[in-house]
Amino acid sequence: MPEAPKNTLKPTTDYNLELKNKKTLQFIEDVTSNADEVQKKVLEEILSRNAHVEYLQTRGLNGHTDRETFKKTMPVITYEDIQPHIDRIANGDTSPILSSNPISEFLTSSGTSGGERKLMPTIEEELGRRSLLYSLLMPVMSQFVPGLDKGKGMYFLFIKSEAKTPGGLVARPVLTSYYKSTHFKDRPYDPYTNYTSPNETILCPDSYQSMYSQMLCGLCQHKEVLRVGAVFASGFIRAIKFLEKHWRLLCNDIRTGTIDSQITDQSVREAVMKILKPDPKLADFIEAECSKDSWQGIITRLWPNTKYVDVIVTGTMSQYIPTLDYYSNGLPLVCTMYASSECYFGVNLNPLCKPSEVSYTLVPTMAYFEFLPVQRNNGVTSSISVPKTLNEKEQQELIDLVDVKLGQEYELVVTTYSGLYRYRVGDVLRVAGFKNNAPQFNFICRKNVVLCIDSDKTDEVELQNAVKNAVNHLLPFGATLAEYTSYADTTTIPGHYVLYWELSLNRNTPIPPSVFEDCCLTIEESLNSVYRQGRVCDKSIGPLEIKVVEPGTFDKLMDYAISLGASINQYKTPRCVKFAPIVELLNSRAVSSYFSPKSPKWFPGHKQWSNNN
Ligand code: AMP
Repeated sequence: MPEAPKNTLKPTTDYNLELKNKKTLQFIEDVTSNADEVQKKVLEEILSRNAHVEYLQTRGLNGHTDRETFKKTMPVITYEDIQPHIDRIANGDTSPILSSNPISEFLTSSGTSGGERKLMPTIEEELGRRSLLYSLLMPVMSQFVPGLDKGKGMYFLFIKSEAKTPGGLVARPVLTSYYKSTHFKDRPYDPYTNYTSPNETILCPDSYQSMYSQMLCGLCQHKEVLRVGAVFASGFIRAIKFLEKHWRLLCNDIRTGTIDSQITDQSVREAVMKILKPDPKLADFIEAECSKDSWQGIITRLWPNTKYVDVIVTGTMSQYIPTLDYYSNGLPLVCTMYASSECYFGVNLNPLCKPSEVSYTLVPTMAYFEFLPVQRNNGVTSSISVPKTLNEKEQQELIDLVDVKLGQEYELVVTTYSGLYRYRVGDVLRVAGFKNNAPQFNFICRKNVVLCIDSDKTDEVELQNAVKNAVNHLLPFGATLAEYTSYADTTTIPGHYVLYWELSLNRNTPIPPSVFEDCCLTIEESLNSVYRQGRVCDKSIGPLEIKVVEPGTFDKLMDYAISLGASINQYKTPRCVKFAPIVELLNSRAVSSYFSPKSPKWFPGHKQWSNNN
């Protein structure tokens, strides 16, 4: 299998950037040219080293490592299928259940099961694989934008809280795990990982202090910044909004060369003080720009050498493209990679392409990939769907990486080094082209997700349950919910969920606003842990809103859908709307609007773990 280029060089003396980039690009050529052989070897390696783990033994794989036997023997699964095994590991069973390597920690996915984050087992060496994927990004990028080694990246990166499972394993999001690892903290010299944010500011657990200090450092080094970004578009916009709110304080710090007293974390203060110098001229400049009426192009105004904005704007994040275009004056929006807690998948080899054309090349060394063909029904008549269990024939017919067909859509299924076997990730991808023999995929959607503002993913079943709980508040008033739908409103920053409710009123008892506010809060309390964390901790989601619409609104909605070609027999009210004219129709018929009066409850860790608060 082609070896990944190693990054062990020291600054300046023996650092040959050109050579390193060349080696990295050659690695991509090699693995994509030999994609099928690499995949075969990856599967052999995973299965041979794990031949004796309980999960493979009990299913009768008997040490086979070939694709055919694997496909015949092993079921295609979802999280719920392995949850009992995960729970045993979480409760302290250290026997080789899923992996022969010790499970080093759990990565908490933003995908949820039973309202709680899914727990993905991982092993120590997986960090190396993640680092490898990161190391591919800048050599690819520098083919299109030269000179990026001459300045810095202003990236807003954050850690989230972590919990311990009852058995004592750490459970935290994958990026928190990565930023806290030596792979990130003690990264060897590389001009491409030269960030304006000192590690201490990224690793600060207090999100306000972390954001404040990263913004301060980014402003101080504004001329050196060549690229800006965050992981997701929503996170970057949150940073701009933060600047809008706090620029006076930040300017004061820059003017005086001191840090605001709200920044109490000593290590953050020390790290920032190495960068911050009194600079009244810079403070005047920032003040002048920030106090202008329009914030259009604020990124290029404050960071004039920025060449692109590095954020994920594919999938649900595409809703943020207009806002990013506004703040950045149309700088290229670059989506570099596609990854998850289960496994890091691939990179965008044509990073300056339009957001709508982004495709990710799956890197064949990362995991063994299979593809389940998907037939999508059209969005207007979407209905509650749960992953369908596959019969034996369907399980055997999953398609290998090099055999996918151009234009076809597939659900991604992975077998990873850390103990997932034929696991359905839940993402739908479409083949957009090939790099040598490796397919390149457009990210289409995550299955079943109807609402998403940040990293939250709310599906129809969760929404339905939450609404069911909330409408109990209406019963004493003789009111029932005739119809509802929802909308992820990102015109506010942070964005928020809006529910459109049409009521049937059976009595003339007026319903006080506080009742609807209770409904809002009950819905929030009923939504999954990732949503509630976004509301409480990260403040990345705003209070949920209920808009009561005039009687007859949903009939109008149906008329409209039918006028667009929906079948009258099959029409079902969409539980989420995105199409602007439909949102306009609903808004134009709203008679009142109510917001959640406070944040819902949230605790780190799973609710069933006793040590979670
Ligand atoms: P998590 O497990 O919380 O890290 O979330 C991983 C999920 O985020 C993936 O399975 C995708 O649904 C989504 N995701 C990750 N990278 C991208 C991307 N580049 N474009 C669109 N969605 C992405």
